[in-house]
Amino acid sequence: MTSSAEGGPGPEESFRDSLGIVSQEGKRRWLFPKAPRGRFHRARIAVSALLLLILFGVPFITIGNHPFFLFNFLQRKLILFGTVFGPHDFYLVGLSVITGIIFIILFTVVFGRLFCGWICPQTVFMEMVFRKIDYFVEGDHRAQARLRASSWNGTKIVRKSVKYLIYAAFSFLIANTLLAYVVGIEELRKLVSEPPANNIGLFTAVVGFSVVFYWIFSWFREQACILVCPYGRLQGVLLDRNSIVIAYDHVRGEPRGKMRRDQERTEGDCIDCHQCVEVCPTGIDIRNGTQLECVNCTACIDSCDAIMDGIKKPRGLIRYASANGITQGTGFRWTARVIGYTAVLTVLIAVLTILLIRRTPLDVTVLRTPGMMFQELPDDRISNVYDVKVLNKMFNDVPVNLRLLAPAGEVEIVGGPLVAPSQAVMQSKILVVLPQDGIHRMSTPITIGIFADTVLIQKISTTFLGPVKQQKDHDREQEHGGGHD
Ligand code: SF4
Ligand code: SF4
Repeated sequence: MTSSAEGGPGPEESFRDSLGIVSQEGKRRWLFPKAPRGRFHRARIAVSALLLLILFGVPFITIGNHPFFLFNFLQRKLILFGTVFGPHDFYLVGLSVITGIIFIILFTVVFGRLFCGWICPQTVFMEMVFRKIDYFVEGDHRAQARLRASSWNGTKIVRKSVKYLIYAAFSFLIANTLLAYVVGIEELRKLVSEPPANNIGLFTAVVGFSVVFYWIFSWFREQACILVCPYGRLQGVLLDRNSIVIAYDHVRGEPRGKMRRDQERTEGDCIDCHQCVEVCPTGIDIRNGTQLECVNCTACIDSCDAIMDGIKKPRGLIRYASANGITQGTGFRWTARVIGYTAVLTVLIAVLTILLIRRTPLDVTVLRTPGMMFQELPDDRISNVYDVKVLNKMFNDVPVNLRLLAPAGEVEIVGGPLVAPSQAVMQSKILVVLPQDGIHRMSTPITIGIFADTVLIQKISTTFLGPVKQQKDHDREQEHGGGHD
């Protein structure tokens, strides 16, 4: 008996050089996995139902006529939890992506492909929607295989037509939902209610997405996870012997051997019933160790637990465990890798949180106009000119007021009241006027309050240039004295 990838014995090593979905002749091998049943599958159904409810329901949630979530990359508009992010927030989006990647790496190092089995949209749709349609229309795995092998007759034509019609309807629904996340539910309503010619771009997108989804779920299927998914490909570098994966306990299970009545059992707990292989949607034998094809769907755990119940052995011959957990009985360990990723992730989350907290709905800059000195006004007043730039990140136009908070003085807006248009930058000029009595040095610190309508949202500190009163009086005296002379 040879050793498997995880150190466990396996009957042969051919699985290393072949894929379960490819036949010896190099052709596609269609899989007809047995329907899984058990506690993990029931839990996955509940989680999938919740995820599907969220996926299909969220586009209908609006806050003040704006979507709760929107991913309109064409117009560079992103709405998360009702907050709009634009091109000016690129640094936040970039940092969020980096934080997300580190989180996924850390999560995978510790928990393996838990995401694939429970949350990944491909797995949820494939196993919880389209695979269920297969069982509903064509019957169990054996009936499906028989139907595929049979010649085209009335039953086959009817069953295949019904199945693919339901597939097409679901693909269309998914395409519409995804489009709602991109353009918003209102645009989608228009598309549904108006003739296609009025929205030819959106119509083409819906049809295109529908065709792609139909092709993925009717033909491509598990190949998406095995051949295409980059996350699956990364498992080889992310997983180590301490990562928790769906694993076969070879210490307990080997040597495997069939159950024989009336004979004392000397082998391990695996009775070589192949139930774990029959339910596998990617066509692998988990007893060969962790493999790229395993999407952590838990079907083999449930089927093996049912067998263990039947032969009165403890459950968990296949379970969530690490390779070291099985061979050495160790639990979770803080390895240098896990500590390193956790430290980086903590720093990134802290920085992101601070940036999000400090993010204001209006970004205002007030700078003294370059090259301009002060002006002397009647009634002993001095003015400075400032450039004002307002970036409005909100959905609505916002009236902007500026008031001098300190010292006493006035702000005069050049050209009338300011209104910052939604999702745009507004530029204007203001005059700050101080009484001569309030100026005690050449550069006086001032604080300008920025009000969105009447709400103070930001305080800006800058400086005001003006002649010092004593100096000015002295200059005047000099002037007058010089006149007498
Ligand atoms: S289901 Fe369990 S007992 Fe049966 S072959 Fe798989 S590991 Fe062995
Ligand atoms: S090996 Fe088990 S967990 Fe992995 S894909 Fe197959 S059935 Fe699912």
